[in-house]
Amino acid sequence: MWHMSIAAEMYENSEYTLPDLPYAYDALEPTYDEETLRIHHDKHHATYVTKFNAALSGLKDARKRNDYASVQALSNAIAFNGSGHVLHTLFWHSMKPGGSGEMPADLKTAIDKSFGSASSAKSQFAAAAKAVEGSGWAILALEPVAEELMILQCEKHQNLTIWGVAPLLVCDVWEHAYYLQYQNDRGKWVDSFMTLANWDFAAERLAEARSMTAEMKK
Ligand code: MN
Repeated sequence: MWHMSIAAEMYENSEYTLPDLPYAYDALEPTYDEETLRIHHDKHHATYVTKFNAALSGLKDARKRNDYASVQALSNAIAFNGSGHVLHTLFWHSMKPGGSGEMPADLKTAIDKSFGSASSAKSQFAAAAKAVEGSGWAILALEPVAEELMILQCEKHQNLTIWGVAPLLVCDVWEHAYYLQYQNDRGKWVDSFMTLANWDFAAERLAEARSMTAEMKK
């Protein structure tokens, strides 16, 4: 359930690649500063990509050797770094310089149906992000079976997910995402993130997830 252009950014020539940011490094200033964004994207996200590719290549070699002993460690590395790559790619698109203002109508209708109102959904999203135990993410997602929007907490990158959901908007609450600028004040970072939230992106992804779900149900 990938936005095609994002999927193309993530994977080229048989390897996962670090996608460029969809805006300049200083475009989210002063809410999200350039230095934090540079380190977050160029170092942290880049490392997930490098380790994801290394683990995939390691698994390929292990298969050739019938080396099943290393499968679990490699699988852990793939889940951890692959999920980190996927979520960070979504995260960059989950923010927009200046924020996107009002939610597009289709997203708003779906949000109202699942959460009662946009303000209720935003409060719940922010509360979920602030209350993640340790490192992790808050994720707005479409659960395709009931076709309900849900707000999930994810611990680290890979725990507590529901397989098959289509994440629409994600907020990074790992310390590296905010510590340089916000120190230990995760709440302030989350509230700041909410002012940058890109609901246009969430709406586009909702439309794509729905068309994918419709295909699956044929
Ligand atoms: Mn991060």
